[in-house]
Amino acid sequence: MTKYIFVAGGVMSGVGKGIAASSIGNILQSSGYKVTALKIDPYVNVDAGTMNPTEHGEVFVLDDGTECDQDMGNYERFLNRSFSRINYMTTGSVYLSVIQKERAMGYGGKQVEVVPRIPLEVIDRINSAIKKDKADIAVVEIGGTVGEYENILFLEAVRMLKIKTPQNVALVLVSFLPALGAGGDELKTKPTQHAVRSLNAVGLHPDMVLARAAVPLDKKRKEKIEFMCSIPRGYVISAPNVSSIYDVPINFEKDKLGEKLLSRLGLKVKNKNTREWRKLVGVIKNLEKPVHPVKSRKAGISPKAKSFNRVKIGIVGKYFATGNFVLEDSYISVIEAVKHASWANKRAPEITWLSAEQYEKSSDRINELKNYDGIIVPGGFGSRGVEGKIKAIEFCRKQKIPYLGLCLGLQLAVIEFARNVCKIRDASSREFNPKTASPVIDVMPEQKALLSEKKYGATMRLGSYKCLIKKGTKSYVAYKNTVISERHRHRYEINNDFRDELEKNGLVVAGVNPERDLVEIIELKNHPFFVASQFHPEFKSRPLNPHPLFREFIRVAAKRNVQR
Ligand code: GLN
Repeated sequence: MTKYIFVAGGVMSGVGKGIAASSIGNILQSSGYKVTALKIDPYVNVDAGTMNPTEHGEVFVLDDGTECDQDMGNYERFLNRSFSRINYMTTGSVYLSVIQKERAMGYGGKQVEVVPRIPLEVIDRINSAIKKDKADIAVVEIGGTVGEYENILFLEAVRMLKIKTPQNVALVLVSFLPALGAGGDELKTKPTQHAVRSLNAVGLHPDMVLARAAVPLDKKRKEKIEFMCSIPRGYVISAPNVSSIYDVPINFEKDKLGEKLLSRLGLKVKNKNTREWRKLVGVIKNLEKPVHPVKSRKAGISPKAKSFNRVKIGIVGKYFATGNFVLEDSYISVIEAVKHASWANKRAPEITWLSAEQYEKSSDRINELKNYDGIIVPGGFGSRGVEGKIKAIEFCRKQKIPYLGLCLGLQLAVIEFARNVCKIRDASSREFNPKTASPVIDVMPEQKALLSEKKYGATMRLGSYKCLIKKGTKSYVAYKNTVISERHRHRYEINNDFRDELEKNGLVVAGVNPERDLVEIIELKNHPFFVASQFHPEFKSRPLNPHPLFREFIRVAAKRNVQR
């Protein structure tokens, strides 16, 4: 009998519902169950692909090319596995299927009502994901916050399922508890009480409340939520801020979350196996500790220099600033990949955001890159900040600073090399300069047609493609394999008309897609680490399985160990 656990949010968004759902999945998986995880987003966009990252955070890409919400990345990282198209849906995609089915006479001439048709389509999709994964339990996260208009049809799907088989459905409310006073004074339960009433208004009642707050929830307030919201004793779980998201499952388990949820569904823990995960969290916590004075002296470094177990990485990008806020969500998979690789190299990562545009305005600023052990230029679209990134790449190439380029970071590395080494002074990408006479980065013919018809949604080169790695390259040292598969999301490519010229001047083509003869990885010789990929390795990095390219990049960067 398949079981469903729905995770909904109360009070406000952005309190870590995705991490909570991923952690629940992680706990159930480590309790011996086969788990699948789904994300439902309430927006009308058919997928996340057309959204600006500053709008909704990073666009995550699955093996099958689905462009989805960043929470799918959390599911893959916490469950250490890949998901597919069926694990992600939006209001837009659900309506689209129903409308397409109606146009094909799929409802046999009946009037198609929003209820029950839309919720039934949602349930169908959840069941397809369960079937595909042969899962015992599906963890389904409902985006948005209860009480708003947008996710009501998804909650209706939960109600329908619960009415049919109440013993198979559990609903978890992740709610926020504010505190007005400094230092996390008294946590207020009232907004949570209102959130529970909003659920009651749509015919639902939570089986468990995860109380998100800056600090742990005390006994008195736990009991108050239990009493005021009719939650069974022990089913209000404290979910305070923790320094690492990977500690959340372990933290939940202190309150026996897994056991309680399973018992609510009539199940028991089968074979508990949390060894690897606990080991990882142990490593993270150890690295975050203040520097040990004896160890640092032995390493020949003053205990005052924080650098000895650190690796200092600069990310040169543009999607992180809105007003005074740093929007780290835009690059979440890159950040996580850097962390995984750093921990695997027994280093604590120290990541700094460097705005590309500042290097366009002042040429002296670029010298600050010397203060980093390694530099990353991540993916991006459009021309803003591009010239600044090219300057940063030139600096890394000449000053021998470890460099990792991701997608746009490869394209700009090629442009820089073409301009400054091959002396093709006007080298550019057709993306920023459609009329360039030297398009070293160009659009593929099939993409040209799509662009002229304004067909932007889900039309890039997306998802996993094979890549053959040349032996004797740094990429081979990293992958220890000649055949790999990596995820893509781009429209432009290295123009093969310029490949000879680039290679003649020393650019190493380390990876190629065999079907299309497209360059997938470039590198430089006589440089500690200068590697850039057309694909996005960050999407496949997992805490228990750090990505080989990131791992090698951090290994080399850590050796540089700039003194601060
Ligand atoms: N804008 C570039 C392209 O479309 C790079 C995309 C990316 O970095 N993901 O090819």
